Amino acid sequence: MNEYDSELVAGLLEKENYSRTEASDEAHLILLNTCSVREHAEDKVHARLGNLKIHKDRNPDVKIGILGCMAQNLKEDLLKSKPYVDIILGPDSYRRLPELLSPATVLDDNIVDTKLSRMEVYDDLFPARREGINAWISIMRGCDKFCTFCIVPFTRGRERSRSIDSIVEEVHQISAAGFKEVTLLGQNVNSFQHEGRRFHELLAEVSAVAGIERIRYTSPHPQDFDDDLLRIHAENPKVCNHIHFPLQAGSDPVLERMNRTYTRQHFLNLAKKMRDTIPGLSISTDMIVGFPGETEADFQLTLDVMKQVKFDAAFTFKYSSRPGTKASEFEDTIPEAVKQDRLQRMIVLQKEHTLLRNQGHIGEVLEVLVEKNSKKSENQHQGRTRSNKIVIFDKAGEQPGDLVTVEIVDAQGITLFGRIED
Ligand code: SF4
Repeated sequence: MNEYDSELVAGLLEKENYSRTEASDEAHLILLNTCSVREHAEDKVHARLGNLKIHKDRNPDVKIGILGCMAQNLKEDLLKSKPYVDIILGPDSYRRLPELLSPATVLDDNIVDTKLSRMEVYDDLFPARREGINAWISIMRGCDKFCTFCIVPFTRGRERSRSIDSIVEEVHQISAAGFKEVTLLGQNVNSFQHEGRRFHELLAEVSAVAGIERIRYTSPHPQDFDDDLLRIHAENPKVCNHIHFPLQAGSDPVLERMNRTYTRQHFLNLAKKMRDTIPGLSISTDMIVGFPGETEADFQLTLDVMKQVKFDAAFTFKYSSRPGTKASEFEDTIPEAVKQDRLQRMIVLQKEHTLLRNQGHIGEVLEVLVEKNSKKSENQHQGRTRSNKIVIFDKAGEQPGDLVTVEIVDAQGITLFGRIED
């Protein structure tokens, strides 16, 4: 989402005749687009701002701005501790940038605008993208779910969806620019709703755009997964057979304290239905260990869900308290060593499942979208299956963006190895 927002801001500034530089030494304006979802992300921004202060001391005319969730969430702290920052704009205030940067505007003081909007979806603004294979498109903003561990509803505001017309127009643009794949983005992507039209209807419209071969989306919420969405996965070949399906925890008491609004059984039933309905489906997930009050028995229930679903991939996190959230007030916190131990056990189990799932592809012939050179050899390409698995194979004259047929011959860790078919 932040990558998309950065492209959106770049698009806004390019319209004003700004040009982009990769070298911060050359820049007259440096914007950091920030994330508050975990403490680590914020720490990195503080460190980066420390470096930029040295730059600004040497070049006092350089303007420094902070955008996004940290701007929204930590403005007071930033104003106090980083007075050399010129502009602080929350996620709904990017339209103000051209006005604030205009020579007519005198930035005597720090400019702060973190007002959240119930309407802003940047429907008429299109991002400045670099060339590539996959383009991100934001289809909605904000979130109404209020999971107790999550800062997003406070930093990004209430849920609102873009119009289908504007999204489809953007998909036509990326197709004309040569992109083959689109990933639709939202904090809670499957609760998309615009003028009574729902997410599966949007997928159908996007899939009608010529030139787009694959459609992905992230992240859905288990509560909002309906049969219409499963059906379009099964019936529409452009909608990829990969679902990111965030579990977070596998114990009902923990899910309840997280305010996730589903039970472990609901999650398990849906995962089974997905695998039964969608051929060759891969499922990835997010999981948090060490949420306040999580007992060893609760943790074992999470491992049990993992054993039943055998996720293809997982993003695993130690719980990190976010000031301002409800969970940050929970007192029964888990010691760091216990969190670390649980995370380690979870990672070991997930590695087993990833390998098992990937080994299941050996001998299959899969369609692969060529993305780039493999990191290890210029003589090999890296591509991706519809089910979102990375495949490495020897080059045979194909180019990035081509769809090729590859026989899978090996699986190691998260990677498949294949042989291109004639
Ligand atoms: S659904 Fe996702 S974005 Fe919304 S509150 Fe929960 S974790 Fe945060």
